[in-house]
Amino acid sequence: MGKVFLIGAGPGDPELMTLKAARALHLADVVLVDDLVNRACLAHARPDARVIEVGKRGGCKSTPQVFIEKLCIQHSRAGHIVARLKGGDPFVFGRGGEELEALTAAGVEVEVIPGITAGIAVPAMLGIPVTHRELARGVTFVTGHTKDGSEPNWDALARSGTTLVIYMGLTRLPQIALSLMSAGMKPETPACAIENGTLKTQKQVITTLSRLSGVRLQSPAIIVIGDVVRFARAVAVEPKARAA
Ligand code: SAH
Repeated sequence: MGKVFLIGAGPGDPELMTLKAARALHLADVVLVDDLVNRACLAHARPDARVIEVGKRGGCKSTPQVFIEKLCIQHSRAGHIVARLKGGDPFVFGRGGEELEALTAAGVEVEVIPGITAGIAVPAMLGIPVTHRELARGVTFVTGHTKDGSEPNWDALARSGTTLVIYMGLTRLPQIALSLMSAGMKPETPACAIENGTLKTQKQVITTLSRLSGVRLQSPAIIVIGDVVRFARAVAVEPKARAA
């Protein structure tokens, strides 16, 4: 029997992958890689490793979840070490839980290697701390897009006093902003949206809740709403140690 490493590749910048992730990736015979993973992360895979793209890049339709799970099971049963590489953290809006469940049920050994999630790293690179002793008692990670179209409880979230970090919220920004304001969140609450965070192609709009609906950015983007956004630097500071 082989084994599956369920690996978080971090938010984009390949240097934000962990040492443990790089080491596990180097052990892999087969690498199943998601859309959002920076291909530069594959520098840690062995040259003879088989890389299978399971995302939507290159105009292909994304691979069905069940098929990905089957591939992992097949290869590990064939005695291979499989690296299942996912963007950010595998368990934060990444279906990592579903994969772990399916693999475990099939009797496959799985080792989880956490990654740095976009919802923390992307604001951080702009200087935004998602929690702050004076400004935010906590942080809530929420998705703006659900499989069945159901809504998060915006009313409760508006009253929570926590920073809201919204994944996959871009297309529903106007409705989200409206729901939060209807629930009593102040229109002038600082807010920002960040596209391609941690990458050289990063773009951000620093604004207020009432103006969020006018934001024009592309996916992937993270939205941060709350007083901590006051810390945002208008221009991202280029880290000195960034990879080429
Ligand atoms: N497991 C991932 C999230 C996958 S869901 C993680 O932990 O980060 C995909 C969503 O994550 C995107 O729609 C976007 O909202 C967010 N995201 C991922 N990478 C991003 C990046 N580099 N910049 C901005 N948002 C990002």
